[in-house]
Amino acid sequence: MADDVHGEKGLLGRRGLLAAGAAGALGAAGAGAARAEGGTPGAADRTITLTGRLPTGAPDFVYLPFDVPAGVREVAVTYRYDKPTVPAGTPGNSCDIGLFDERGTDLGGRGFRGWSGGFRTEFSVSREQATPGYLPGPVRPGRWHVVLGPYQVAPQGLEYRVDVTLRSGAPGGVFTPSYPPERARGRGRAWYRGDCHLHTVHSDGRRLPAEVAAGARAAGLDFLVSTDHNTTSAHGVWGPFAGPDLLIMLGEEVTTRNGHWLALGLQPGQFVDWRYRSRDEAFPRFARQVRRQGGLVVPAHPFCPYVACQWKFGYEDADAVEVWNGPWTYDDESAVDGWDARLAVALRQGRSWLPAVGNSDAHSAPQVIGSPHTVVLAEDLTRDDVLDGIRSGRSWLAESATVQLEFTATGNGRQAGIGEELTVPADAPVDVRLAVAGVPNGTVRFLTDEGQLHQESLPADGAGTVVWRTTASLAAFVRAEVRRPRADGTPGKGNSMGPDLPWGPMAALTNPIVLQVAE
Ligand SMILES: [Zn+2]
Ligand SMILES: [Zn+2]
Repeated sequence: MADDVHGEKGLLGRRGLLAAGAAGALGAAGAGAARAEGGTPGAADRTITLTGRLPTGAPDFVYLPFDVPAGVREVAVTYRYDKPTVPAGTPGNSCDIGLFDERGTDLGGRGFRGWSGGFRTEFSVSREQATPGYLPGPVRPGRWHVVLGPYQVAPQGLEYRVDVTLRSGAPGGVFTPSYPPERARGRGRAWYRGDCHLHTVHSDGRRLPAEVAAGARAAGLDFLVSTDHNTTSAHGVWGPFAGPDLLIMLGEEVTTRNGHWLALGLQPGQFVDWRYRSRDEAFPRFARQVRRQGGLVVPAHPFCPYVACQWKFGYEDADAVEVWNGPWTYDDESAVDGWDARLAVALRQGRSWLPAVGNSDAHSAPQVIGSPHTVVLAEDLTRDDVLDGIRSGRSWLAESATVQLEFTATGNGRQAGIGEELTVPADAPVDVRLAVAGVPNGTVRFLTDEGQLHQESLPADGAGTVVWRTTASLAAFVRAEVRRPRADGTPGKGNSMGPDLPWGPMAALTNPIVLQVAE
């Protein structure tokens, strides 16, 4: 939840890149009295001023049309809105902004030209360049729209003023995107570490893509996914920062009013729309769009308490779920519990179970890139192989690269690893083995569909091997957690209950090994 919308963890305050909701294009007139005035700040420039007032209960998106004549080189926008005093506990005004060009504002259409949420008060777009978050490209004549996302409106309403300056002149050069390659120099079939949720200046982060790539290398990662909120504008700048040692994949954090989801492994420039709520039934369409192109749909921080961040779209269209987001907090406990509860249900119904992933969601210093991250067994260090590994649950979640782990189940002469299935006679002994390093005085937990069935402490050097015996009749699956000591230095409290938190922070969490009874 390092999202800036995630207050305490973020450095940037609660204003974020929220948006989404009613998908229909609502003209400015439908949202209050918007009116346009001409102006003449520069010789060949023209400024259009759009003002209006939005009441509490304004649509999720308010579209302000303006006409771009031929010969315009650049569209530059500034905006502001009032922030009246509100009683404690009542949301004050917060208004996001973005831009659609003459191709229109249809949901999933081609007109998207950028989004800066609440992070910027001005931006510009031309053929050659654009403010991060916005897409450079042709400035064609026609009806364009500024889109406002008034995601919190004070009881007094929200008065806005948007100034659109149309700068004339020759169109300038052409922006040439540099996309990262889809493979890096791998080690063949191996465990690869990666962070699939990272922000840059292209949304509400303060890091440049170069700094994010450097941070990933410093964290010992093999791959990363670029997931700026609601825009693809970073896709075309990652090329120079990838390398044989670092696979960079493209993505988007699709930030709706009913939760955020990670679209991972997008095609270069592939935009995923975010203007819907759960009630709009549009999410499955966009999940399909991502999956058809080989990407993954991953609900992010599903229990984050901040406005519009809780996941309300269900998991039927998901490929994995982010159960650990940034520094370990109680909503991560909720996410793990919810995920765990769905595992046995999926196995009973013979459906595929949903793998867990962990990501840093780092936006800015001092948030640590790679803390946590996901360690994936992949055939090689390529986009498709890493996505396959995540999709199949052959992965575990690590607090940092100093945590190492191996987890297997052995029975009836066979062995299965994380995300795999072990088929054995119902009562054949199954030895579950966890080897771990990097968690001094940590607590190892083995959990099945019955809950925690084994707990053991690690020594002060943080390394150890824990072995426990079960059977396929006793356990539908087994998974492992490694916890840091609690704040007072004590280990976790096993199967007990009480008013205090029973566990210290997560250091590592595995996806399950499934135990099947041989027919
Ligand atoms: Zn988020
Ligand atoms: Zn995020």
